Amino acid sequence: MRILVVEDEPKTADYLQQGLTESGYVVDCAANGQDGLHLIDQQDYQLVILDVNLPHKDGWQVLELMRREHSTRVIMLTARGRLADKVRGLDLGADDYLVKPFEFPELLARVRTLLRRNEHMAAVDVFQVADLELDPRRHRAYRGNRRIDLTTKEFTLLHVLMRQAGEVLTRTQIISQVWDMNFDCDTNVVEVSISRLRAKIDDASDIKLIHTIRGVGYVLEVRQ
Ligand code: CA
Repeated sequence: MRILVVEDEPKTADYLQQGLTESGYVVDCAANGQDGLHLIDQQDYQLVILDVNLPHKDGWQVLELMRREHSTRVIMLTARGRLADKVRGLDLGADDYLVKPFEFPELLARVRTLLRRNEHMAAVDVFQVADLELDPRRHRAYRGNRRIDLTTKEFTLLHVLMRQAGEVLTRTQIISQVWDMNFDCDTNVVEVSISRLRAKIDDASDIKLIHTIRGVGYVLEVRQ
């Protein structure tokens, strides 16, 4: 699940990015509306958290412009709690509205509610390949009867591999779905993360599920 935060105050942006990343989301940040709109055109976001008070284009304008082409869910953030603002936001197509200052758990609850509404398209509740199971809602993974303890990044990585089981994913495809845009592509984090995931998932089992396609990428599948 990829979220875009459009917020010009670095402290708030960092706080949101950190909290949401720890909750298992991939989070990009834009410090103004122009950059935000540019990213919305480039990436496939499931949710945009949009501040109203932005330099140049304000949040209302950004919302209006993005709504011409995108139906992505939007939560508006504002310091003003006036009913007129709320009505305006909802008229322009915001899905929810949160008044600053807010507690992080409240934002997280709203995020989860909106993302759950997206899930009608993902009718699959639990992903399964051989005896490997992944339950995104309960944030759990099992190999046979054994519960696998995964970090949030490992969980996201496994989710990406299982959602596209049988398809070879390049390193670039994996990075774009698991890490945010500030990720340093020169590092070997993908290789390291895959090998940690393998140790947890495949090492104890005779049937290996994560395979390396040399020079191309990785695939999760059952091989005869
Ligand atoms: Ca602001």
